[in-house]
Amino acid sequence: MQYESTRGGAGTGNAAQAVLTGLAGDGGLFVPRSIPRLTAGELEALREMDYTRRAQTILGKFFDDLPEAAQCAAQAYAGFEVPLVQAAPGAWVLELWHGPTAAFKDLALQFLPRVLSAAKAQQGVTDETFILVATSGDTGGAALAGFADVPGTRVAAFYPRNGVSDVQRLQMETQQAANAFGVAVEGNFDDAQRGVKAIFSDAQAREYFGARHCELSSANSINWGRLAPQIVYYFSAWCDLRNAGALAEGEPLDFVVPTGNFGNILSGWYAREMGLPIGHLVCASNRNRVLTDFFEQGVYDARRAFYKTISPSMDILVSSNLERLLYELSGRDAQAVAALMKQLSEKGIYAVSDTLQAQMRRIFSAGSAGDDATRATIKWVWDAYRYLLDPHTAVAWNVWEKTRGGNKAVIVSTASPFKFSADVLQALALPAQMGAQAQCEALSDATACPVPPSISALWSNPRGRVTACARDGMLDAAKRIQAWE
Ligand SMILES: *Cc1c(COP(=O)(O)O)cnc(C)c1O
Repeated sequence: MQYESTRGGAGTGNAAQAVLTGLAGDGGLFVPRSIPRLTAGELEALREMDYTRRAQTILGKFFDDLPEAAQCAAQAYAGFEVPLVQAAPGAWVLELWHGPTAAFKDLALQFLPRVLSAAKAQQGVTDETFILVATSGDTGGAALAGFADVPGTRVAAFYPRNGVSDVQRLQMETQQAANAFGVAVEGNFDDAQRGVKAIFSDAQAREYFGARHCELSSANSINWGRLAPQIVYYFSAWCDLRNAGALAEGEPLDFVVPTGNFGNILSGWYAREMGLPIGHLVCASNRNRVLTDFFEQGVYDARRAFYKTISPSMDILVSSNLERLLYELSGRDAQAVAALMKQLSEKGIYAVSDTLQAQMRRIFSAGSAGDDATRATIKWVWDAYRYLLDPHTAVAWNVWEKTRGGNKAVIVSTASPFKFSADVLQALALPAQMGAQAQCEALSDATACPVPPSISALWSNPRGRVTACARDGMLDAAKRIQAWE
């Protein structure tokens, strides 16, 4: 499969090159040149397979020129459960949080490091790959866990010292792998992100690392190697529903997705294009409802206040992966996409054509829920169905209730409620003034839901390779980490 940039100026590359390059040279994002379609027979055959073989089948279409991807999927998903749970009449919850850090990013970040390693081998790249990520919580832990002990890689996660939850902080601080480092930055998330971007655009820094046979790279969701593995669970959920006898042949199924950077839901769009009978993709946002307004009005306006919410992984004003959707729905008009993205970076706003808006609305619907509505949803779903939602999934549930039509729906659940115990306890009107471990135990006692083993292990795990730095000391920290034996 060849990949091309959404802005048309970077030529094409094969799968390995797309994964290794991350962001295309013209600032655009890599997309496959054609979207493979599954035949009806192939779709039926998926139903008989376990998750790993489903992943190998779907990923094989995009990585046909990198056959090692099959082995990568086998290693990534051995023992990884992706259960679909019926929580209410007409609504199933797809629990994507049974991996090492109890958030859905594990599904992509268990695969990406392995496929990156295979891509390097194919392309003859021998330099060490040094992954730098800035994180507001979920990405950092999942990246450290994903790259842990992957040969030829080293990973540093920069997190705001006082800006992540205790569970998230412990997930980074107790990572045991010798090539994985947590860095507490004296500052907020924006400082950490600015610092990482500054390192990437610093020619002298690149030269410094290059001279040490070390190549800087990132692991965020603009990399095709993170999007592709997410397509799999849309197919897998459909297979499980069909196998349970809950869905008729060809019956359209809706997916409701708690959305931040638009990566997860875009993977659902790819699944639909590949022939999965998806009815609507419902884009759920919290109070930062840029995407809701965009789908309703056709105007993307990032010039607005930024709110910190109880669903922090969705606190985002510029959803990078939307660019890929604009490219596809505009009939692959790279010039038009480049113009829109220029308007976004210069003016903070753009509007799409009526035709494109009509295209979007045929497939997507959207809605938002503020923190109060999110808490109320956690409480009432627990009271009514005895199903425990995390705040991100609760946003999706709330939006599903407001937008639901006649189709059956899968609510995509992106985090374990135990990752956000304090807010979930508060939503249930239970006391939450206690330490993180006590919060998890109180939530488990009150609901009889088990704490995920990866979280209960955190309290006794020894500290791993952690360091700290000042806001303007991130480059020095990266240099220290590069030299750390
Ligand atoms: C990252 C994340 C999201 C947002 O996913 P996108 O692919 O960025 O839209 C939602 N929920 C949780 C818990 C996350 O970690």
